[in-house]
Amino acid sequence: MPDCQTCGACCATYRVSFYWAEADDAPGGQVPAALTQALRPLERCMQGTASLPPRCVALQGEVGRSVACGIYAQRPSPCRTVQPGDAQCRKARAHWGLEPAAA
Ligand code: SF4
Ligand code: SF4
Repeated sequence: MPDCQTCGACCATYRVSFYWAEADDAPGGQVPAALTQALRPLERCMQGTASLPPRCVALQGEVGRSVACGIYAQRPSPCRTVQPGDAQCRKARAHWGLEPAAA
């Protein structure tokens, strides 16, 4: 099973978007709004993840070596959904050359 703390590929591959009210300028929201950007009327994404190449502004360290999420306890739902070893994970890791691309 891949180790997230020596990876970070998914945080620097995908656009990380979510319902706007997950951000902390909405009641009950938790994601720091200052680290998000508007995407569509009801949708935001983590800053940096809509850029090319994508890299979340909250990602600390070097992909494939040593990384940490600066807002781990407050990260949005898509970051909680991806699991080490699942299809999204493997695609991101393959993109970064951290494992062979799927056949
Ligand atoms: S879920 Fe997968 S791609 Fe994302 S940091 Fe963990 S090991 Fe890397
Ligand atoms: S919020 Fe954290 S877990 Fe989510 S993409 Fe950014 S660095 Fe990765």
